[in-house]
Order: sequence, then C-alpha cells, then structure tokens
Amino acid sequence: MHLYLYFYTMGEKKCPHCGKWSKWKTNINDKCEFCGNYLSSRDLEYHENRQKDIQANKEQWIFYIKETDSKFIADLKKVGNFFYTIYMAIITFLAALIAALPG
Ligand SMILES: [Zn+2]
Repeated sequence: MHLYLYFYTMGEKKCPHCGKWSKWKTNINDKCEFCGNYLSSRDLEYHENRQKDIQANKEQWIFYIKETDSKFIADLKKVGNFFYTIYMAIITFLAALIAALPG
C-alpha cells in the first residue's frame, strides 16, 4: 500500500499553473499535459519572487503613488516625478555634452 502511494504520488503532480493533475516523472523539465507549463514550481516561484522584488523597488521610489495617498499627494508626486524626469534628462544631456567635448 505504501509502495502504491509512493508510485502514485511520483507519477502525478498538481500543476502549479492550472491546478490539474498531470503525469510527472519527477523531472523538473516535465510539462503539464493540460496547459504545457513546467510542472516544477521552481520557475513560478522564481518569477513570483522577482515580481515581488520589482514591486518592492517601485514602492521605495520617492514619487511612487500609493493607493492610500490623497489626491493632493498623488498630484504632487506626479509633478515631482515629471520634474525628476526632466532633471535626469538635463543631467544625461550635460554628461553627453561634456563627454563629446574635445580635450
Ligand atoms: Zn497545467
């Protein structure tokens, strides 16, 4: 019975993408027979962590508009972001100009 359970669980894996039980040979490259995505959740976890990192970085940005921000703060941040973009453009332009200067 235990052996049967062992083979049963080794033979099938719940797809992390579509939630269906697909045949699985415990190979990380095995793909779901229903949706074609990798059965190993490694890629998915990596992807999710990556998305979280990107989101966290975004929220640390000084002009990031949070859902809790009031209209005034949101507008202020939009203006701040706009001027920052212009500022960066000028800096980039000046740096390029200096780099282009002879001598
Ligand atoms: Zn699937």
